[in-house]
Amino acid sequence: MTSKPFSAFGPDFPFAYDDWLAHPAGLGTIPADRHGAEVAVIGAGAAGMVAAYELMRMGLKPVIYEAGRMGGRLRSEPFEGAEGVIAELGGMRFPVSSAGFYHYVDRLGLESRDFPNPLTPAAGSTVIDLEGETHYAETLADLPELYREVARAYDAALEEGADFTALKAAIRARDAAAIKAIWDPIVRDWDERTFYDFVVSSSAFQALSFRHREVFGQVGFGTGGWDSDFPNSMLEILRVNLCELDDQQKYIVGGVEQMPRGLWTDAPETMAHWPTGTTLSRLHNGATRGGVKALARAGDGRIAVTDRWGRADVYDAVVITCQTHLLTTAIDTEERLFDQKLWMALDRTRYMQSAKTFVMVDRPFWKDRDPVTGKQVMSMTLTDRLTRGTYLFDNGPDKPAAICLSYAWMTDALKVLPYDTGKRVDLALSALSKIYPGLDIASHIVGEPISVSWEADENFLGAFKGALPGHYRYNRRMYGHFCQDTLPPMERGLFLAGDGVSFTPAWVEGAVQTALNAVWGVMHHMGGQSAPENPGPGDVFAQLGPVALSD
Ligand SMILES: Cc1cc2nc3c(=O)[nH]c(=O)nc-3n(C[C@H](O)[C@H](O)[C@H](O)COP(=O)(O)OP(=O)(O)OC[C@H]3O[C@@H](n4cnc5c(N)ncnc54)[C@H](O)[C@@H]3O)c2cc1C
Repeated sequence: MTSKPFSAFGPDFPFAYDDWLAHPAGLGTIPADRHGAEVAVIGAGAAGMVAAYELMRMGLKPVIYEAGRMGGRLRSEPFEGAEGVIAELGGMRFPVSSAGFYHYVDRLGLESRDFPNPLTPAAGSTVIDLEGETHYAETLADLPELYREVARAYDAALEEGADFTALKAAIRARDAAAIKAIWDPIVRDWDERTFYDFVVSSSAFQALSFRHREVFGQVGFGTGGWDSDFPNSMLEILRVNLCELDDQQKYIVGGVEQMPRGLWTDAPETMAHWPTGTTLSRLHNGATRGGVKALARAGDGRIAVTDRWGRADVYDAVVITCQTHLLTTAIDTEERLFDQKLWMALDRTRYMQSAKTFVMVDRPFWKDRDPVTGKQVMSMTLTDRLTRGTYLFDNGPDKPAAICLSYAWMTDALKVLPYDTGKRVDLALSALSKIYPGLDIASHIVGEPISVSWEADENFLGAFKGALPGHYRYNRRMYGHFCQDTLPPMERGLFLAGDGVSFTPAWVEGAVQTALNAVWGVMHHMGGQSAPENPGPGDVFAQLGPVALSD
């Protein structure tokens, strides 16, 4: 048994990215005659910045293209007119099991604190409002028995349907063989079945009422509100549970966007080829290139990347981190660069919608106590109303604070898609006024509100992947594409990474892990190799890679 901290190790590809990153031998070496060679990186989100940073450390010269804003879906939007008050519009809570992500957070010296999730001490208190019934709770014990029945039923369903305790123990022990022995049959059994099916067909929920399922959908496990995922493949949800992605979450003080931006200006101590003090920013003379418009095989066999200004450059290798649908919308991608089966996967990949609405308030007034009941006047709130999840961010007493009035997915996100931020705030305040009838939230709002609908942004077309039943094969094709030795030459040299390629979409850890796969892929493509004492993901992929299902 290992005593290492629990990390998102597998279950599809049980490879210890944190050990690989931490090993003193480094991630690998490139032949000296390739040092300084340019590699294109499309997208400056978490995946693109991690890939670029590590490729620079190997002595290559990443050329980053970004169509929008550095940070991508790690977007920390500052409120105008205040200092340090931000709206986390994309990723906002990061489970401690995200070992790859925290490798970079720690490297950059960023501070993290407990995220104010429902029923956690960091939230202080939680209000659950369903079908017009409102409960105030500080822990699960304060809620009616029905909520505990629901929690116990889901635990029992996980044991029954996924041998949960044994599988968790294998992940904790980083025992790849034991993980595969349990997980691979689950892949066959559950790829084509939904989360909803898993819940309702479990003996535990069969013994309970429809109301229990409904409450589970609203409150769920961990952070709540999981009914938006009911149509997804159950494998997606099991990975969240198994990798503890919905547990022990932290936020990054000052905003998570500091992570990708920090990698832009960080000078690694150890680097091949480049002089001390070299940073990605310096290699780019301070600015990334613009968005990519076209990808094609050049006459010399290399890959031509054309930016939106028409400038074309050729590269031996290209890392692609934007959403996969953009390869058929924003980027004119020569079709023969990918196999048709891979195109099927890239195009069928399903993205979920998500909308968030934030306001800045004068102070963390929600901590005031009601003189009659002694309860906080407002709490972290989960509801079946339009807002779904309301989160409260305290920056210290008497300092401006932020409220995420509404964080919603899928249909709930689409409800506000056509509306401007002001209307979204009005709708959210109206919903919350039914839960907190005596509280005038609007009287505390200062500054201008901020909202986002990721599906409305042409650089994203959605929030994150949410694989549907039957999508495992697609996921496997995209995920494993970084091992290219058996591909025809026409299809080599492009490396896919990021949220849509990952097995744990909607979690930045998956974006980081796939970026590291791409780093290995580029290194191998450029004639490099891993240190024998520190094999990389591609060195062990044939042995440990995700199980194949027949086509
Ligand atoms: C609403 C929301 C909530 C989330 N919550 C969490 C959370 O709490 N915890 C967690 O761990 N994760 C969360 N995630 C997931 C996490 O944010 C993502 O997994 C991660 O940020 C994805 O990084 P990426 O590099 O793969 O993609 P991106 O961040 O999308 O980066 C890709 C980049 O490519 C750029 N691009 C697009 N087209 C082009 C082009 N033609 N040329 C050049 N560049 C282009 C884009 O502008 C973008 O910057 C959340 C995501 C969203 C949207």
